[in-house]
Amino acid sequence: MALIVQKYGGTSVRDIDRIRNVALRIAKTRDRGDDVVVVLSAMSGVTDRLLQTAGEITDRPEKRELDVLLATGEQTTVALMAITLSSMGYKARSLLGYQAEILTDGMSTKARIRDIGSGRIRSLLDEGHIVVVAGFQGADSEGNITTLGRGGSDTSAVAIAAAVKADECEIYTDVDGIYTADPNICSKAKKLDRISYDEMLEMASLGAKVLQIRSVEFARKYNVVIHVRSSFNDEKGTIVVHEDSNMEKMIVSGVTHSKDVARITLLKVPDQPGIATGILSPIADAGIQVDIIIQNTRAGNMTDFTFTVPRTDYAAAMEIENKVAKEIGASEVRGDDMVAKISVVGVGMRSHSGVAAKMFAALATENINIRMISTSEIRISCVIEEKYTELAVRTLHTAFGLDDENKTV
Ligand code: ADP
Ligand code: ASP
Ligand code: MG
Repeated sequence: MALIVQKYGGTSVRDIDRIRNVALRIAKTRDRGDDVVVVLSAMSGVTDRLLQTAGEITDRPEKRELDVLLATGEQTTVALMAITLSSMGYKARSLLGYQAEILTDGMSTKARIRDIGSGRIRSLLDEGHIVVVAGFQGADSEGNITTLGRGGSDTSAVAIAAAVKADECEIYTDVDGIYTADPNICSKAKKLDRISYDEMLEMASLGAKVLQIRSVEFARKYNVVIHVRSSFNDEKGTIVVHEDSNMEKMIVSGVTHSKDVARITLLKVPDQPGIATGILSPIADAGIQVDIIIQNTRAGNMTDFTFTVPRTDYAAAMEIENKVAKEIGASEVRGDDMVAKISVVGVGMRSHSGVAAKMFAALATENINIRMISTSEIRISCVIEEKYTELAVRTLHTAFGLDDENKTV
């Protein structure tokens, strides 16, 4: 008898028919004799709609209250799933984040899981229940409801799998697994049988929303094997595991894009020590993550300072920098939220040169201008105009020989 954690994303529980379909899958696992902990997202579109509704009241809703609101999406699906399973004759119990003892820090809307006390889940399993846990949510040490950032149900599932020492963590979604690029925009993308935690971490951090980055961090740290697969068929999906010597060492194993990017430039900043911290510390203090940073020197002891932030934090970051610019004597702040980040990822890059040159050449043939560049040991990213995103993904996918030749579309 195994203990399996199964997480179902928003499209998999979009309506009552889909909830029934998922309940049948869960029942099948249970009938095999396995213990099952189910982690659910909100119905697709619900989290967005809740955010939008709060936005109709004010453009800066209080984050604590936003979390109380957003957590209702998952509260609905776990209750409906437990009702469905019970009506099918199975013992099932729903748990909200705090009832499943998911303790987080107090960073509302972006909380991190600190600890999971698995006592309640375990005793429900021992009593023969299917346990249905609300993903994406927890509570801080003062009992405030918190949420884990967009896509956070993946992290709930992996963290619970680690806490209950599950044999496997299955992430059921609307694609058949992890592909060499988003299959919804690159029709020639290939499904991967396996991918290393390191590569998946890079892909997730660069925008492949199929797994939230923190879920992969948890999995790597606690050795949780993740199986990403479709909730609409029984095909084997993609296994995320530690890198091993049998793994094919592709130079480039994937192309990733993210539109959750905005670029901010401070022009003619006096070039002196302390400038970078003067510009970026207030951004960090506001809990905003800076990604790529570039500084260009110009004549007259001046520099231009450019960095990127998540697009969702663009307005707040612009407001901060307009104040900073006055304090430090920068001439102007320019912002652009119609940019995107395109990246190529692969562990094989460690031992190969020429990947960057090939990437820039491929983008140049399509006349795509590169605005910013950033590299790590196993990836290269370029910031480009958003309207070229899809074209850039397909061009790079072909240029690096990743196209699935069996697909003709
Ligand atoms: P869920 O609601 O199940 O959590 P998400 O929408 O969060 O699903 O994640 C699945 C989506 O991730 C897919 O529909 C796909 O568009 C996108 N995606 C982006 N990059 C990739 C990739 N490399 N492989 C698979 N899917 C990807
Ligand atoms: N419902 C949340 C979201 O839409 C969490 C999740 O689906 O993983 O981001
Ligand atoms: Mg998701």
